[in-house]
Amino acid sequence: MDEFLKALYGKFESLRLAGVRWLPVGAAPVPAAAGGGAGVDAPRPSGQSGRSVPGPGGWAGVANQMKQELEKKAGAARTTSTATTKETASPSSAGGFKNNSNGRAETSSAPTRSKETTTASPGSAGGLKNNTDESLQPARAVGAETAEVEKKLAAVRETVKKCVRCKLLAETRRQTAFSDGPANAEIMFVGEAPGEDEDKQGVPFVGRAGQLLNKIIAGGMKMRREDVYICNIVKCRPPANRKPEPDEAANCREYLEAQIELVRPRVICCLGAVASQFLLNDPTPVGMMRGRWLEYRGIPVRVTYHPAYLLRNYTPDARQKVWDDVVEVVAKLREERGKGE
Ligand code: SF4
Repeated sequence: MDEFLKALYGKFESLRLAGVRWLPVGAAPVPAAAGGGAGVDAPRPSGQSGRSVPGPGGWAGVANQMKQELEKKAGAARTTSTATTKETASPSSAGGFKNNSNGRAETSSAPTRSKETTTASPGSAGGLKNNTDESLQPARAVGAETAEVEKKLAAVRETVKKCVRCKLLAETRRQTAFSDGPANAEIMFVGEAPGEDEDKQGVPFVGRAGQLLNKIIAGGMKMRREDVYICNIVKCRPPANRKPEPDEAANCREYLEAQIELVRPRVICCLGAVASQFLLNDPTPVGMMRGRWLEYRGIPVRVTYHPAYLLRNYTPDARQKVWDDVVEVVAKLREERGKGE
């Protein structure tokens, strides 16, 4: 169709340049001096005496319309090409992980589906909208079983609130930060320990590292934070954000195991060395643990860098590695879904 339009436009243009112009029905040829080009009437199909080529402005008008039409099509093609480029941007591009999530504004345990998409950058007004992949919407039904799991998780949460197994942590914490996310989540993120913001709010991953995690979930995984389960190895903030001591992690292990047992995620993603080494009981550095599939009690485990590490090392290389890891997590989730419950 474009080729036809181009050919037609070329024809009109050559006629216009040759001075051929259009006249309405019955009009007499207009001399060039009167502003009618070469003063020659437009060609008409044989046997017709009426207007042969409609269009205000004569041949030049028709030619202009054709030209505008072609330019409009070319512009639309350019726009499509730009949008495609944005959609496939990697974390090493200027925008990094696009923050297209709603952050943690919504924390409903029964997530609603959203079809809204945007290509806005993190800094723009619309940058916090969802950019979810419809095929990655929660697949587990919310039913009686979920309610039962929620009840059991709530009981563990209450126990944790009063826990004083680690004397120092129990004395210095404002409150515990047990978890964030639905009981029927398919992906579980396991981090290290609450920091200051988490200690204040009683929710894991709500500070700067948490905001970056939101971007990773939304931009890299095309999922929503409220559809994944997030927790830490220890539920109380260690003083001055130091690493949890091995005995503290061991004290808290029972609660983490209960969370994994109850939620039964299809995939676990360990964030950072403390989480991966403790959960898997493997001292291998995170840089050597990532890039392959590990297992915890039959559940596939992927290790990646902690968002706090990424904030300190926000290089294209580090971002690319985390991006690759979470893409693998999503691929594994699809694979595990295919196997059923
Ligand atoms: S870190 Fe865990 S085990 Fe230690 S006091 Fe807090 S809740 Fe209890």
